[in-house]
Amino acid sequence: MIILVDMDGVLANFEEKFLEIYRSLYPNLPYIPVNLRRRFHIREEYPKELEDKVVSVWTKPGFYLSLDPIDKGLESINEIKNKGHDVFICTSPLSTYENCVLEKYKWVEKYLGNNWVRNIIFTKDKTIVHGNLLIDDNPLIKGIKNPSFEHIIYDCSYNKLENFKRRMTWNNWKDVLTEL
Ligand SMILES: [Mg+2]
Repeated sequence: MIILVDMDGVLANFEEKFLEIYRSLYPNLPYIPVNLRRRFHIREEYPKELEDKVVSVWTKPGFYLSLDPIDKGLESINEIKNKGHDVFICTSPLSTYENCVLEKYKWVEKYLGNNWVRNIIFTKDKTIVHGNLLIDDNPLIKGIKNPSFEHIIYDCSYNKLENFKRRMTWNNWKDVLTEL
């Protein structure tokens, strides 16, 4: 099978690093703990007047490379690959790509090794990528095509309203993705 795996929120812990940096830069401003996040896009959940400050966190050089791996994610995708599946990291880069794209490559090499670098797919439209499964924390995968893949939700506080799709974390993926 071809398994597409999203990066932020599935392999790389965007949410916690964002909050850590945001709170250290702006200790007196309001913030939303990760478990209380309810919308997929962080910028939509913070007041409009804080948008520049919020966005500045992830556009700064070094942010993407500094993300910690999500627990059990790296070993799990290696395990899936070792079962004989084709596993690709399928990620949407920021349109302000200067740091994001390079650092995502570096992150994969740092945590997964150089062999995984060739299995990175950057796209703003995941629906045009062929696959059997896409594991993604975004509850809404939009694009120009009806996806060929089944979208598996990576379970997070901000995607609980999506009820019609299978959902998993790296703690229970073997129970959910029994076909693997
Ligand atoms: Mg994501």
